[in-house]
This record gives sequence, C-alpha cells and structure tokens, in this order.
Amino acid sequence: MQRDGSAKLYDEAQQHIVGGVNSPSRSFKAVGGGAPVFIKRGQGAYFWDVDDNRYIDYLAAFGPIITGHAHPKVTEAIVQAAQNGTLYGAPTEHEIKLAKVLKTAIPSMDKVRFVNSGTEAVMTTIRVARAFTGRNKIIKFAGCYHGHADLVLVAAGSGPSTLGIPDSAGIPPSIASEVITVPFNELEGLRVALERWGDQIAAVMVEPIVGNFGMVMPKPGFLEGLCKMARNAGALVIYDEVISAFRFHYGSSQTFSAFPDQEAIRPDLTALGKIIGGGLPIGAYGGRADLMAMVAPLGPAYQAGTMAGNPASVLAGLACLEVLREPGVYERMERLAARLADGLLESASRHRIPLTINRIVGAFSTHFCAHPVTNYEEAQEADGERFARFFRLMLDRGVYLAPSKYEAWFLTIAHTDADIDETLTAADEAFREMVR
Ligand code: PMP
Repeated sequence: MQRDGSAKLYDEAQQHIVGGVNSPSRSFKAVGGGAPVFIKRGQGAYFWDVDDNRYIDYLAAFGPIITGHAHPKVTEAIVQAAQNGTLYGAPTEHEIKLAKVLKTAIPSMDKVRFVNSGTEAVMTTIRVARAFTGRNKIIKFAGCYHGHADLVLVAAGSGPSTLGIPDSAGIPPSIASEVITVPFNELEGLRVALERWGDQIAAVMVEPIVGNFGMVMPKPGFLEGLCKMARNAGALVIYDEVISAFRFHYGSSQTFSAFPDQEAIRPDLTALGKIIGGGLPIGAYGGRADLMAMVAPLGPAYQAGTMAGNPASVLAGLACLEVLREPGVYERMERLAARLADGLLESASRHRIPLTINRIVGAFSTHFCAHPVTNYEEAQEADGERFARFFRLMLDRGVYLAPSKYEAWFLTIAHTDADIDETLTAADEAFREMVR
C-alpha cells in the first residue's frame, strides 16, 4: 500500500506542529515510528487517507465516533448549529436538553456542567471533591488514564500502594505527592492506602470499566468494595466514564447489567466526554446536588469555559445519543464484535500465536500474551513488538487499529458483516506473516 502523500505531509507537519501531531496518541511512536496516516475524509465505518487508501476504522477516534463517520443525523445537527451561529457566550435551551438526557441515563448526576474535554471534566471533579472535603490527596489506579491534568498524570512507583511519581516532565513533585496509585482489580492496595492516608483522601478516582490498558472489567465485588471503603474513610468516589458512558449500553457503568447492585456502586461524581459530543469537543461532569453546589456561580470552587456547552457540540451530542436509543443498536455492535473477536482468537490459535481478547459488548482489546489481562501489570506484559507488527500488517491491508497495544477496538453502528469478513481475512494473513 502506497502512502507517499502521508509521508510528505508528515515531513511538513513536523516543521510546524510539535511531533507532527496534535495528540501524541496519534503518532506511530508506539508501533515502530514513521509517518502516521493522514486522513482526508470518513464515511460510516471507513476513512480514506490522502493517498486514497480506504481503511476499515476500528479506532472510532479513540471512542467518540460510535455512530460511524458523518452519520446523517449528527451531520444535520452540526449544520443546523453552524447556520445559527456557533457561540454566543450566553446560555441556550439545547444545553438543558442534553443535561436532562444525561441525568436520565445516569441517575447519580443530580446536576451537570459542560466543559470541553474529558481532561477538564476529570480535573474539575477533583477540584470539587477537594473543595467539599477540605482534603487534598486522591487515590487512582495504575494504568487508568484520566486526561493530562497535572494531578492525574502520575503513575505508580513500585509496591502495593505508592505516592505518585510524575509521569510527565513539568509536574511538580509536590503535586504528584498528592496522588496515591494502587493496583486495579484488587482491594488490598486501596485498603493499605486508606489505612495510611485515609483522613487526607478527598476522592478515589477510577475508570469503573477500564478502557486504557485494554478493556478490563472490574472483578465481581471490586467496585462495591471500593465504594464502601472510600465512604468509610470519608472520601468521595469519582467515576471517569469518559470512555465507558454510552459505549456498552444506553447509560453508563453505573446502570450496566453486569453490576446487579447499582446502589452499592453509585459514585458521588462522574466525568464524561467522547460519545456525548457526537464527535465534537465536549466534556461534562456531574453528581450529587450538594457537591455540585460547590461550583461557581453557586459555590467557591471556580470552573469556567468560553466554549463550554457550545451549540454545535451539544446538538451533535443530542443527535448521537438519539441514534443510540434506536432499538437493537448495541445488540448489533455486540454481535459483530463477538464474531470478530472469536474469529481473531480462532485464527491466532491456528497460527499458534498467544492472544488474549477482553471484549465488552461492542469493544475489545487484543493482548499478545497467553495470560488473562485484569490489571495494568498484566497488560504491560503483553508483547508490544508483536502488536506493532500486527498493527502494520493490518494497516497495509486496509484495517486501521489504534497505534498502541493498550487501546481498544471500537465497533460502530456503521460496521457490517462484510467488514468483519474483510478484517478476519486480513488478520489471518497478518498472523501467517507474523510466524513466517
Ligand atoms: N478519561 C478517560 C477514561 C479517557 O480515556 C480520556 C481520553 N482518552 C480522558 C479522560 C481525557 O479526555 P480528553 O482527551 O477529551 O481530554
């Protein structure tokens, strides 16, 4: 497959845009480097690069494009918004509509505030938790990604529960030391951390269903235990549902059928993004009314945004969520994802390639290892070089995966059985090449 156009644009981009990309996750650094693919347009389950190569898209823009590209209803909403002016700096009725839709789907959110990204949403939930509790520290789980704000760009040191070490230059150790990182899917690390720092913990932050070291379900009892232990310590529970909300069903993890006792896993605050903007920039946070009353103009915790709640993002989000309410939408994505995941496993096994797949409804992650993946450590142990090779071979066969072994494959409502067939043929060829 010829990609001279992308190579040329990458050369040019690097002269003007840092690293040639506007988000490091778009670079191919984790899969051997070189030029990323420059995209010209997308339609449904496909996008085309500047060299007119067509790809079946399983990236879905890292999650938001669940309707497929340029869905007519979402496009119409964006056009309508554009025709009426894109920003007023004054409120609109649309914002109330989207807030009501979110509140109905996610009942723990008494009040909502719109922002522009998942990062902002998460960052502000932490501010609200700190303002409310008068405490400074937060606990997070190793491998969970919560955006690029200082406080959450902190990784674990060694040991079961450790004070954070900055994961990025430019984060003062004083800030990192307010973050404690513990392993996902076991309560012991959390218990130790709460025992040691309990009265200083403002919040325990978690992706209730993980999307950032593969797709990982919490083990039975994990979320229940987490919520109970946090509460006993007087800490709030924050769910980062930037990926998980509306991905697996029409709602969030909090009302997902896998968790029978919804009361026991109810968070105090929730951060949202991605799907709720229908492919336009958005974030939102919300939660208990008394906590949200901490936020300006009602309360002393300040948070603002020139672009927040802009009509284009809000109307695109409303249109996207309306599409997701159509009957059978999630069942269809699940059926196709199951076919694809089962086919990949069968093919990998035929070529004697160890492969673990974690699938949740219409999304899954592929880990080149023989062991199950239930936490970050296990995901790290999967073979990254093998993934990189697989990624390249799939790319050359017109299948676009996220360029990282930690990211998920996302089905959209636009994918078809024919796409799955084509992908499985490509994968079988790729696996054959890999063991040659
Ligand atoms: N939280 C989670 C769980 C995410 O996956 C992401 C982005 N991948 C974020 C927060 C940050 O969202 P954004 O990129 O919109 O700032």
